[in-house]
Amino acid sequence: RNSCVSDSSDSVISSGSDSDGQVYKVVLLGEHGVGKSSLARIFGGVEDNDCEETGNTYDRSLVVDDEETSILLYDVWEQDNSQWLKDQCMRMGDAYIIVYSVTDKSSFEKASELRIQLRRARQSENIPIILVGNKSDLVRSREVSVDEGSACAVVFDCKFIETSASLHHNVRDLFEGIVRQIRLRKDSKEE
Ligand code: GDP
Ligand code: MG
Repeated sequence: RNSCVSDSSDSVISSGSDSDGQVYKVVLLGEHGVGKSSLARIFGGVEDNDCEETGNTYDRSLVVDDEETSILLYDVWEQDNSQWLKDQCMRMGDAYIIVYSVTDKSSFEKASELRIQLRRARQSENIPIILVGNKSDLVRSREVSVDEGSACAVVFDCKFIETSASLHHNVRDLFEGIVRQIRLRKDSKEE
């Protein structure tokens, strides 16, 4: 593909809703340059890493453990600089993916801040969150160790995974993980 695609829903396994008709909103958070859009494009099945876009929404159904779940992935955190949009992001997600780059310590610190903001915005809710250390392929410029990442996730009571969008490493696991988290949360609510 040669063009930037927005709202890509043509490249899905199957578009639409799952058995209970629900579509789950998953929001990507994290500092500029950590790889949010790269991860989102892999999720959306759009392999165009040179296109510089300002933000998109990807609609896709994933079959995980023989069950289909519809996800709307929002890569809009940096779309403009309005506080309104940021507040909106904090409020609308059914689940969150907080991304930092393992090559950038300040993006890791920012991830903690975002986790705290999210907790404040959604106090009583137990929202699924996955902390993602991206760019694990850049071994020589690593500034955040795996142990630091997973320790942070323990403190913040969320899941943790390291990914490489460039190598597509663990990206599938990340999105399957978020689907499983959403299901767990949903099941515990229904009981
Ligand atoms: P965003 O600002 O968070 O949306 O980050 P982008 O997805 O635009 O990525 C920022 C830059 O990092 C781009 O040049 C990407 O090609 C690069 N990048 C993203 N993920 C990885 C990765 O896993 N490994 C490496 N080496 N580079 C990456
Ligand atoms: Mg981006």
